[in-house]
Amino acid sequence: MTCSSITQEIFHPLWLAKNIQVFVKRDDDIHPIISGNKWRKLKFNLKHIQKTPKLKGALSFGGSYSNHIHAFAFACFQENIPCVGIIRGEADNINNYTLAWAKHWGMKLHFVDRKTYRRRQHADFIAELENLYPNYFIIPEGGSNKLAIPGVAEVITELNQQVGFDTILTPVGSGGTLAGLITGDSLASNKQHKILGVAVLKGADYLRHEIQKLLPEHAKSHNNWQLLTGYHCGGYAKFSDEDSEKIIEFNKLTGVDFEPIYSGKMILTFLKLLKQGYFKTGERIVLLHTGGLQGLGGMIERGILNKSDWPAFKPLTSD
Ligand SMILES: *Cc1c(COP(=O)(O)O)cnc(C)c1O
Repeated sequence: MTCSSITQEIFHPLWLAKNIQVFVKRDDDIHPIISGNKWRKLKFNLKHIQKTPKLKGALSFGGSYSNHIHAFAFACFQENIPCVGIIRGEADNINNYTLAWAKHWGMKLHFVDRKTYRRRQHADFIAELENLYPNYFIIPEGGSNKLAIPGVAEVITELNQQVGFDTILTPVGSGGTLAGLITGDSLASNKQHKILGVAVLKGADYLRHEIQKLLPEHAKSHNNWQLLTGYHCGGYAKFSDEDSEKIIEFNKLTGVDFEPIYSGKMILTFLKLLKQGYFKTGERIVLLHTGGLQGLGGMIERGILNKSDWPAFKPLTSD
């Protein structure tokens, strides 16, 4: 399971005028099927399972349109690891874009209602699952555990060989990716880069603590990172028509497609910061494209977005 991605410069009149350089770390291109940051987070989790003879499979959690569930199902399929997805919601969703593929790759879908799903970190619920699926390695929602961190840290190792930069931006859901970047930056460089995370969900201030908990000892002293919690556009998977139009326009101008749930919110935030004069003349900025284009499948299916606006979304076909 190898993963690495290229870094490319993108151009836009807004920052050319300010003498700022912008690069995209193309983790969306790590793999034709799997979303970038999920691949990185799963890498050492799956290695751990393969190295531990008593483990027979893997189990994780997600909503019915989850990028993590989609990536996890495919990665386990590829590595021949039996897997279970604990899915929030009703079995009516079983044929939606995301879950139809997860099932196709052999994931056992175990649906639970919203109330049960909220107990996903409670010891008694975990014990129930351990009973039902003995010797399955349990990976939290979003794949964000300690084993996810070294996989994401490799983003920084790669970047340091690809471009010199001052600042990196990433979208943030559960915080594992941001924690991985902070860790990579503490390991790899003599100078700390500025690391900005853009929370895509409402009320994300609690994540600062979760991120701290995920950091290994040597990374806890990194003091040049920030979680921005005021740029969620209304909450998880919420965005206005104006927001999605701005993202579509940005995609057309730069030739890279960002989607509106994660990476697109980072773009909207980046544009706002740029307008506010947040970045310095000569600054070199990396935008981490975490992938997530599969999520467009469900939104196109439900008529929330038009397929023709998102040329980089290529629906999978079974042949
Ligand atoms: C899951 C996901 C994120 C958020 O990553 P976390 O590690 O959960 O913060 C960002 N972008 C995409 C495309 C994702 O699928």
